Amino acid sequence: MKQQTPESENLETMRHSAAHVMAEAVQSILPAVKFAIGPATDTGFYYDFDLPRALTPEDLTVIETKMKEIIASDEPFVREDMSKKEARKLFSDQPYKLELIEEIPEEKVAIYRQGSFTDLCRGPHVSSTSKIKAFKLVSIAGAYWRGDEHRPMLQRIYGVAFETKKALDDYLTRLEEAAKRDHRKLGKELDLFSLHEEAGPGLVHWHPKGSIIRRAIEDFWKDEHAKRGYELVYTPHIAKVDLWKTSGHWEFYRENLYSPMEIEGQEYILKPMNCLGHILIYKTKLRSYRELPIRFAELGTVYRYERSGVLHGLSRVRGFTQDDAHIFCSFDQLQDEIIKVLELARLMIDTFGFTSYKVMLSTRPEKYAGSLDMWEKATKILEQALTLSKIPFTVDPGEGVFYGPKIDIKFEDAIGRAWQGPTIQVDFNLPQRFNVTFVGEDGQEHQVAMIHRTVLGSMERFLASLTEHYGGAFPVWLAPVQVAIIPVADRHLDYASKLEAELQSDGVRAKVDARSERLNLKIRQAQLDKVPYMLIIGDKEIADSTVSIRLRSGEQLASQSFDSFRKAIKAAIRNKVKTLEL
Ligand SMILES: [Zn+2]
Ligand SMILES: [Zn+2]
Repeated sequence: MKQQTPESENLETMRHSAAHVMAEAVQSILPAVKFAIGPATDTGFYYDFDLPRALTPEDLTVIETKMKEIIASDEPFVREDMSKKEARKLFSDQPYKLELIEEIPEEKVAIYRQGSFTDLCRGPHVSSTSKIKAFKLVSIAGAYWRGDEHRPMLQRIYGVAFETKKALDDYLTRLEEAAKRDHRKLGKELDLFSLHEEAGPGLVHWHPKGSIIRRAIEDFWKDEHAKRGYELVYTPHIAKVDLWKTSGHWEFYRENLYSPMEIEGQEYILKPMNCLGHILIYKTKLRSYRELPIRFAELGTVYRYERSGVLHGLSRVRGFTQDDAHIFCSFDQLQDEIIKVLELARLMIDTFGFTSYKVMLSTRPEKYAGSLDMWEKATKILEQALTLSKIPFTVDPGEGVFYGPKIDIKFEDAIGRAWQGPTIQVDFNLPQRFNVTFVGEDGQEHQVAMIHRTVLGSMERFLASLTEHYGGAFPVWLAPVQVAIIPVADRHLDYASKLEAELQSDGVRAKVDARSERLNLKIRQAQLDKVPYMLIIGDKEIADSTVSIRLRSGEQLASQSFDSFRKAIKAAIRNKVKTLEL
């Protein structure tokens, strides 16, 4: 029985259909190919192939050309339903398809043909190949069959596809821009951090320059928290596993925990969260309602298991430092406290120069602790706090953590990509499990309400977002070197060193380039290092007590007195502005 079904020719269908066309092209070029699967993605499609040889970038060009021929010849996509027996015969030399056939519960299976290519597929597809609009093949990657490292390694070709040539070009430009800003690339070029196979994947080593940025972030963070009544604490990196059994982490969060280590007959684990240490500190005293809210803040390093395949630079790691805090308060104080956290989160987003953000309210997941009633109350409070703060939000059903609902804030970088930032969670579960209480006005013990929150996320991911947002050209207050002082000749070195010392005494990160290199080379180096300001010092500058200022963009400013530059840069750093008022 043959039939042609009318198909909805939307973008996803078009992208998936392009995967079929790519498969046909690959088959015509490498007839020994074994086909795995070829779904649509958010921006295009891919197909996994088992091939007799490794693909090269040149192959992509050849495949692309063949695809264009197939599209031009307007081959119809034709559906045919057949018994599994017939399908097994049809795909007898396609082991992956045979495996897929066995997993289809129905009696009959659907196949689709276009041109010389036949695939096992439920559809839908576009009616014919000419409906495939603008596309491009972009990369080749290795992928295990079924994502299982014990199964064969296949070759995956990724393509992108859009409705129009313009949409495709815009997307490719954004990809290119994203590649230029990739924090893994810039992290190396700017000497910010490294990861080491010999230390283990997903474990970040912060270099001196990355550490300077981190310290600037941390100092600002600590100051703003102190102003808002937070108290800074430090807690250990390991704790007895029993503590995590009481908390529910052992039961609900097991897949993210590392195996226990034994110390004197007791099992300990690396902490995946900082909450429990803060609870223990809280519980060292009887707390009165008069003391609440109590806000413990910690730049706390935590360790969570992530599969090595999903690790990515600084943005997905196995050990990271959260800018964490836990607020212990009465139920009545919850809403106010959340509003204050939202304000602080907005201050952070603004100060670091992100201009737009999106807010999500994540509700109860499948695996959860606590009663339905508690979940409902907590969700309501978060919702009200957002409404009162006039922050628009969308609901993300089922995406909360096991102990409570949460607000997630994602900020957008300069090229419109979203980064996971602040999170705010309400929790009635841990206070119950650990019996965390306060003595109320009535002289009775009451259970506290607890808020878990970060306003940046983690130091690692936040540095990744800053690096990509600014393309490595950090605002002056964050730049590892703020001023490069470049003497024109060796005889200007003493004077350059004097300016360096004066700026450093003001807390400005100034550095003389004392190498006996050509001036242009030294300027070029400072530009590559993305140093915001270069002071060029020659005879004239020394005679007039002026400086000649160059920006990392290559722009040259009018020379001016050293004193006025010194004042301006001090103010810019203090006020955390992006550029100097000169
Ligand atoms: Zn298909
Ligand atoms: Zn917590």
